[in-house]
Amino acid sequence: MSSTSLLVFLAGMVTALITHSACLGHDTPPGHPERVERLRTVLAVLDGMDLQRHEAPMAAEADILRVHPESHLRALREAAPEEGLVALDGDTFLSPGSLEAAWRCVGAALKGVDLVLGGQAQTAFAAVRPPGHHAERETAMGFCLFGTVAAAAKYALDHHGLARVAILDFDVHHGNGTQDLVEDDPRILFCSSHQAPLFPGTGAAHETGADDNVVNVPLPAGTDWPTLRRAWNRTILPRVEAFAPEMIFISAGFDCHRADPLGGMTLEAADFGLLTERIMEVAEECCGGRVVSVLEGGYDLAALAAGVAEHVNVLKGGA
Ligand SMILES: [Zn+2]
Repeated sequence: MSSTSLLVFLAGMVTALITHSACLGHDTPPGHPERVERLRTVLAVLDGMDLQRHEAPMAAEADILRVHPESHLRALREAAPEEGLVALDGDTFLSPGSLEAAWRCVGAALKGVDLVLGGQAQTAFAAVRPPGHHAERETAMGFCLFGTVAAAAKYALDHHGLARVAILDFDVHHGNGTQDLVEDDPRILFCSSHQAPLFPGTGAAHETGADDNVVNVPLPAGTDWPTLRRAWNRTILPRVEAFAPEMIFISAGFDCHRADPLGGMTLEAADFGLLTERIMEVAEECCGGRVVSVLEGGYDLAALAAGVAEHVNVLKGGA
C-alpha cells in the first residue's frame, strides 16, 4: 500500500451520495419489481452513513445525446402520459414523473464524475432509479430509459478529457444497453458478469466489441461468491488492469443476491462488499481510487438494502 492510499485508508474516504426525490416519482404498475420502495429502502439504509450528500441536477440534453439519438428522446417525450401509465413493452413503463426521474439519473451520474474528478470526493454513489444498463441506443427496455452509466462514461471522456474509462457491471443481468452504447468506442472498456441464460439473452463471451473493448462473463444459475470471485479475479480484473482506466464506473446491481426474485445466483450481502473491495484495489492501482457507482437492479428490498450498505461502506474505505 502506498503512503497516499494508507493515509486515505486511515482517514476514510469522502464518498458522495447523489440522489433526487424525482427518482421516487417514476411509477410502475402494482406488483412490478422495479418500484418506488426500492429507492426509499436504499436511502433509508444510507441515512445514517457519513456521506457527502448532493441533489442530482437535470442532465443537459447534450449529455444524453452522447449515447442516444434525438429520436429516442422524442419517442419517450411523445409516449410520456399526463396521467396513468404507458407500457413501452411488457416490462418498461412511463408515468408522468418518469422522464424527470431518468433525466436526474443521468444528472446524478454526471455529478458524481464532476465531484470525483474535481477532487471533492474520492468515490460517488448515484442512488437513482429507473436503472439504465438495458437501455439501447433507440430502445427503452428492461425497466431502463436512458443508458445512465454509459452517458457518464462518455461525459468523463468528452467533457473532462479523460482518455480511457472502464465500466464494470455486476448486475445479475447482462448490460446489453451499455454494451450497445459503448462497444464501438475503444476509449471505454465494458466488463459484465451475469447469469446466462437469463434476460436479456445477450452477453455471450464471444461478444467482445469493435475494438476488443467488451468482456462478457456469462455464468450459470446457482453461481455463488467463490465462482463469481474467480471470474472477476481471472478474467475481468486483469483486463481492467491492462486497460489502465483513468476512472472506473460501476453498474451496481444487487440482484445476484440469493433472495432476489429475478436472479438465480446465490450471493450474500457481504459478498457485494468483498467484490467492491477487489474493484477498489484495482481502482487504487489504476486511477487513484476514482470510482463512480450507479445503482442498477436488486429487487428483494432487504437484500438490496444490505447489499448497498456493504457496497457503499467499501466505497468509503471501510472493509
Ligand atoms: Zn438486473
